[in-house]
Amino acid sequence: MPKFVYDFTEGNKDLKDLLGGKGANLAEMTNLGLPVPPGFTITTEACRHYLEHATLPDGLEGEVNGHLAALEKRMGKRLGDPADPLLVSVRSGAKFSMPGMMETVLNVGLTDESVHGLAEQAGDERFAWDSYRRLIQMFGKTVLDVDGDLFEDAIEEAKEAKGTKDDADLDAGDFRALVDRFKAIVAEQAGRAFPTDPREQMDLAVKAVFDSWNAPRAILYRRQERIPVDLGTAVNVCSMVFGNMGLDSGTGVAFTRDPATGQQGVYGDYLQNAQGEDVVAGIRNTVPLTELERIDKGSYDRFLEIMETLENHYLDMCDIEFTIERGKLWMLQTRVGKRTAAAAFRIACQLLDQGLIDADEAVRRVTGAQLAQLMFPRFDESRLGDARRVTKGMNASPGAAVGKAVFSSEAAVRAAENGEDVILVRRETNPDDLSGMVAAKGVLTSRGGKTSHAAVVARGMGKTCVCGAEELDVDVKAGRFTAPGGLVVEEGEVISIDGTSGAVYLGEVPVEDSPVVQYFEGRLRAGDGDELVEAVHRVMRHADDRAALKVRANADNPEDSARARRFGARGIGLCRTEHMFLGDRRQLVEKLILAEGEEERTAALDALEPLQRGDFEGIFEAMDGLPVTIRLIDPPLHEFLPDLTELSVKVALAGDGADPQDRRLLEAVRRLHEQNPMLGLRGVRLGLVIPGLFAMQVRAIADAAARRRRDGGDPRPEIMIPLVGAVQELEATRDEAREVLAEVARSTGVDVPALIGTMIELPRAALTAGQIAEAAEFFSFGTNDLTQTTWGFSRDDVEAAFFSRYLELGIFGVSPFETLDREGVGRLVRIAAEEGRATRPGLKLGICGEHGGDPDSVHFCHEVGLDYVSCSPFRIPVARLEAGRAAI
Ligand code: PEP
Ligand code: MG
Repeated sequence: MPKFVYDFTEGNKDLKDLLGGKGANLAEMTNLGLPVPPGFTITTEACRHYLEHATLPDGLEGEVNGHLAALEKRMGKRLGDPADPLLVSVRSGAKFSMPGMMETVLNVGLTDESVHGLAEQAGDERFAWDSYRRLIQMFGKTVLDVDGDLFEDAIEEAKEAKGTKDDADLDAGDFRALVDRFKAIVAEQAGRAFPTDPREQMDLAVKAVFDSWNAPRAILYRRQERIPVDLGTAVNVCSMVFGNMGLDSGTGVAFTRDPATGQQGVYGDYLQNAQGEDVVAGIRNTVPLTELERIDKGSYDRFLEIMETLENHYLDMCDIEFTIERGKLWMLQTRVGKRTAAAAFRIACQLLDQGLIDADEAVRRVTGAQLAQLMFPRFDESRLGDARRVTKGMNASPGAAVGKAVFSSEAAVRAAENGEDVILVRRETNPDDLSGMVAAKGVLTSRGGKTSHAAVVARGMGKTCVCGAEELDVDVKAGRFTAPGGLVVEEGEVISIDGTSGAVYLGEVPVEDSPVVQYFEGRLRAGDGDELVEAVHRVMRHADDRAALKVRANADNPEDSARARRFGARGIGLCRTEHMFLGDRRQLVEKLILAEGEEERTAALDALEPLQRGDFEGIFEAMDGLPVTIRLIDPPLHEFLPDLTELSVKVALAGDGADPQDRRLLEAVRRLHEQNPMLGLRGVRLGLVIPGLFAMQVRAIADAAARRRRDGGDPRPEIMIPLVGAVQELEATRDEAREVLAEVARSTGVDVPALIGTMIELPRAALTAGQIAEAAEFFSFGTNDLTQTTWGFSRDDVEAAFFSRYLELGIFGVSPFETLDREGVGRLVRIAAEEGRATRPGLKLGICGEHGGDPDSVHFCHEVGLDYVSCSPFRIPVARLEAGRAAI
């Protein structure tokens, strides 16, 4: 039978799957000899069993009995003993941290009898009754599902009756009365009395933690963070230590480095005479942790020592929750800390410089998603002077966000659905605000420190957040906040928040490129003194050294090509030539479609050819010496014609007076109209059906290359045929292209070698790749169409139509158009890669669908052994970094 319960002395940090992050790290700290209150962890395996069978696994109860008895022996107290009660906390702890998502119940073991024992032992009646009311409140809310506001309202009433606004003015008698009131609320709302048996309290709390795995906000958080649905949570039962035993007690949260910048030092918040939940919930305002030196020098010094021990042990920035009970320091939690993207890069380089990690590990420590965040724009500093600054809060999560102020999650979600940008403004957030935080561009709170719920969750999401803007008086009910000077901002008014400085502005502030983008653009250099740019530079250099995959760009004009090159592209993987037919040139394509007879068609093609040639020349110049893959025209031609319905109406309304040109056009639109254009006359089929079209494009490519060569350039064209399903299609177009290439070589006297290859974007192409490779010098996986045709999902419709339901049902965790579906589409890619290379060893393989810039998909491409990924210019740095990480 599996072991379901581990004492803190039995586990270690590598057992996160089984003990959850919190349990594994409590065990690790215990074994490091750090002061951790004794306790034990019930495994995720027990949770999974419970969730699957709706009953606890056999043997669990016996194991819990044994561990509880051992804990009681060690502490010299019995759970809930009336004379001197052992009290425990019951806390969730999943493999991945889910801040504020799961349930916690403190002070378990207090009853009408043991509250007296606690008062006696602590020598403090008020503390004992306050602890008891907290238990009923937390237990009522999280275990028995009672609306938490009912308890809060009762506390407010008690304070009002006393004529105070401060909890500190409530005395033992007030808390005792609140205990009675809370018990009555529980009985009324839950239909059962608050349990008076300490063990029943503990068992019910354990089950509530298990159940909280499937609470709606936990499900939403997991979806957002892509955490698997079936992991379950562990439960930690830990002997209580109290931070609310007077002014020589307190509780705090700390980081071994600044989680926003990576700077080494003492960062955190401390709250005297309080329990941990008060800090995390941001309910009361905290003092900076450095103040602890003044308050309790002994504990402060010991704490600094422990921080160093933890960093040197975990070789990473740690975050820590601790409590001081009457001058004795206790560690309640640690983990490798969440950090901003900028801090991740800086910390990786700092640890590298300290010799704690090597360069490979430094690259492993950052992600493409973090790099992408650093490329977001920020406020234009030169324009900040004109902006009206409302206040300044804490810079909790960086970035620049502009939107209309909204005051509830519901309003944020509604506005986002209407395509509006909003800033969610709250006094403080709690886990129920998660949907609003997801929907909003940024989050602004008036209370709570850098470790408050809003700050932690926003950082995790990469969402801009300013918290603890204390000067703001937020009135959620009225939908407004009041700022210093009497300024009132109503719901719907636009504000701008700066998560990097903490500033809040009225109105819209213009935004500018981030320094990291300026660095990639070459406008800012490593060594110019920007520490973040320096760190990004070092990490990128090592990632490039290690990467096996090259990164190319999807670009179809000289400007994008040049930008892509500055961003580190090693060529172009996809130039979509149809993009060159837009704007004014659309009319020329129209002429081609309407052409009657050979002569008119040739004239139309002749008009297009020089324009194409000019574009190609510019691109070859921007990518001189690097491969440029040019895809011949792909989309159905009707895309270049007016809309069928609109034109029909126009012609019908004009009646006999309709323009003859419009009539011809309408006829053509009707002729070309298709029920399923994505599966119709497009790609290679166009080349085979419309005489001269592909030949014109190939001629333009060859001529442009010859001109570049004559001008001393080094053009490297690769001609790519789209939507091939059978080798015969490719052979016919390849032969035609070769003839044109030879003809241009003859006429210009310049021989420019060009590879001819194909896209693999139909299942049949993947499955017959061995044959297709006979005729192709390279493959490029068009995974947009390959996903569309493999799943049978219309790429233009399904995401809006029903993907949210599919995500909810867990049919997939992320859209297959965003992250490559390894099992299905990925299998086809593997088959094609293997069979293609079996026919033609050394066959060049790339990918040019949207997946080329997606981190997970880049790792897949590395595993399959592709030569390159190609993505939009802005995603190139992300793909480069992930290509390096995949190779390490
Ligand atoms: C593809 O299908 O993946 C592709 C890159 O081509 P397009 O998106 O232009 O159809
Ligand atoms: Mg395609």
